[in-house]
Amino acid sequence: MLNTHNQVTTNTNFFGNASPHELIEKYGSPLYVYNENILRDRCRELKQLITYPNFSVNYSVKANGNLSLLKIAREEELNVDAMSPGEIYVEEMAGFKSDQILFISNNISAEEMQYALDRNITVSVDSLSQLETLGKINNGGKVCVRFNPGVGAGHHEKVVTGGKKTKFGIEPTKIEEVKEILEKYNLHLTGINQHIGSLFMDGDKYIEGINSLLSIAKNFKDLDFIDLGGGFGIPYKKLDHQPRLDLIELGKKLDKVLFNFAKEYGKQLQFKIEPGRYIVGECGLLLGTVHSTKVNYDIKYIGTDLGFNVLKRPIMYDSYHDIEIYRTRTKPSTKSEFVTVVGNICESGDIIAKERMLPEIFEGDLLGVLDAGAYGYCMASNYNNRLRPAEVLISATGDSKLIRKRDSFESLVNNFII
Ligand SMILES: *Cc1c(COP(=O)(O)O)cnc(C)c1O
Repeated sequence: MLNTHNQVTTNTNFFGNASPHELIEKYGSPLYVYNENILRDRCRELKQLITYPNFSVNYSVKANGNLSLLKIAREEELNVDAMSPGEIYVEEMAGFKSDQILFISNNISAEEMQYALDRNITVSVDSLSQLETLGKINNGGKVCVRFNPGVGAGHHEKVVTGGKKTKFGIEPTKIEEVKEILEKYNLHLTGINQHIGSLFMDGDKYIEGINSLLSIAKNFKDLDFIDLGGGFGIPYKKLDHQPRLDLIELGKKLDKVLFNFAKEYGKQLQFKIEPGRYIVGECGLLLGTVHSTKVNYDIKYIGTDLGFNVLKRPIMYDSYHDIEIYRTRTKPSTKSEFVTVVGNICESGDIIAKERMLPEIFEGDLLGVLDAGAYGYCMASNYNNRLRPAEVLISATGDSKLIRKRDSFESLVNNFII
């Protein structure tokens, strides 16, 4: 490849034995590409986060529910969270057993609770009314409760899930009411959990949230586990050398807090974390093709097939994703310029990167949108009747393997009543 802007994927040998052009030729554009080695590295890093022995990493599958990636996470001995019966269904398909799944529910129906209970999967409820609903159908059973200690964190208002202005969890002032409902239905509270929000790059807020959760835990005598939540951030600005979350430092602080708590509680109960993005974000990349370039009223647009139907994060959260450029032809970029990279959807908000300084881009170039493995494919849609892309895995040996087919015109019309 010539004249390319591809430091990050070169450093990680992201594409293995293939080149971006070979992958696009073989599987079509746009295309989600995942790297197995990076996925396994991330799983292992979090498995080793702390030395506290009774510890489980529950991968939050909503970030990326591809069956092949789930199987790898299971091989790496991760457990999983589910947010819906559909996620439970796929997790079971990937081989996870009921005691490896925690259903973290929010405003679900009694039927959805029953789906989990029938499988002996623990349900975490996050309101008094849902606790009542569960008590009615599972009298004498087990339950987990999600609390919201009033601490939130995250990169965007929409992903802050703890704190006083979110719909999640039960506030600590309602602990007595929780106890009353538990008693009324003879429920055994086996665990409590929280999730303060997504993408923290500094562990202090996380620890603060944990301290609040642990003080809630002291109100309950016989817990088996405490789930500390996810939100572990990844550096989205790799081309600017953004530092990684310091897991060593966070791990040390966590260990101290958790060992102390277990001692005080008088039981070496299990601690869980529930990372999503940290596990799958960096192993995924979105490849697309530049179909046109133009200048409109002094703004240079790079027109691609990467609409927000394929990657929604930039339009949903104003997210920043690094962009690499891959080129086989010999025409070099002789300058850098501010460009706005857009997709092919009929909406003026269909922008992947706004006024980004990049080497000159030409028609026919391929672009790689980095760190697209989390909240990428799973949020893709058929808007404009576009086909959701295929997903490909670069295996540990460097070979590429199709792990989800591209949508087809048939799949678009599948559910019509004809
Ligand atoms: C989304 C979510 C997670 C994972 O968040 P990340 O930022 O991807 O780590 C964990 N737990 C709950 C309850 C969530 O809703």
